[in-house]
Amino acid sequence: MIKVENLFKQFDQTEVLKNINIEFEDGKTYAIIGSSGSGKSTLLRCLNGLEKPTSGKIVIDGVDIVHNEKTLPVLRQKIGMVFQSFNLFAHMNATDNITFALMKVKKMSEADAKQLALEKLTEVGCDHRTTHYPHQLSGGEKQRVAIARALAMKPTVILFDEPTSALDPEMTVEVLKVMKNLTNSGMTIIVVTHEMNFAKEVSDLIIYMDNGEIVEINPPKIFFEQTQSERAKKFLNNML
Ligand code: ADP
Ligand code: MG
Repeated sequence: MIKVENLFKQFDQTEVLKNINIEFEDGKTYAIIGSSGSGKSTLLRCLNGLEKPTSGKIVIDGVDIVHNEKTLPVLRQKIGMVFQSFNLFAHMNATDNITFALMKVKKMSEADAKQLALEKLTEVGCDHRTTHYPHQLSGGEKQRVAIARALAMKPTVILFDEPTSALDPEMTVEVLKVMKNLTNSGMTIIVVTHEMNFAKEVSDLIIYMDNGEIVEINPPKIFFEQTQSERAKKFLNNML
């Protein structure tokens, strides 16, 4: 379980996260939505230790990661992250992108790492791309390889930051399909997305953020059909 308590983040003088309080339960899927600049990425980056909060607590499996920086390496193995821009290593083929951390961080043998990489590439429908380099892959394939790379680390939590925003509609569909399959895997999934239909279909809870605050947390049915706040109503109207 991840418990975020009274979390604040300031960049220079600007407060970009203002008193965030939320619990992410094991195995559930959460969709974070909200306008650009509302603090969604910063919240995700705080959750996996890429960004240090100004104050507050993030307790993961009983450990406050904000005040125990030594736990970050272990934490990063538990929490996978997938970015909008894929972040694959350009000079490594799809398999090596996956095996690199398995061998370096998890100390797996090359043979075992390769086998696991193939397994994960198969899971995301990219087993025909094992020796392709990122520049030889479509955007959708790149993102699926990035997902396979995250999955190979066997995380308990996976964070997605607008994973389909750089993709055209066809590729978006194939990536969303892979993500949807993950929702029954037992992993906790937290996804920042502009894909409202996807959020509605797969998430247990919608988290609506605006201006550094969580304004609404509700199951999709309630969020979309009985929107509580004026801010969320306005946001949804603009999405249509
Ligand atoms: P979102 O992902 O919802 O679009 P972000 O979390 O990326 O929002 O950004 C929230 C606010 O924080 C924005 O105003 C952004 O400009 C600012 N911000 C994000 N990262 C930094 C940074 N490294 N330095 C200064 N300001 C930042
Ligand atoms: Mg963002």
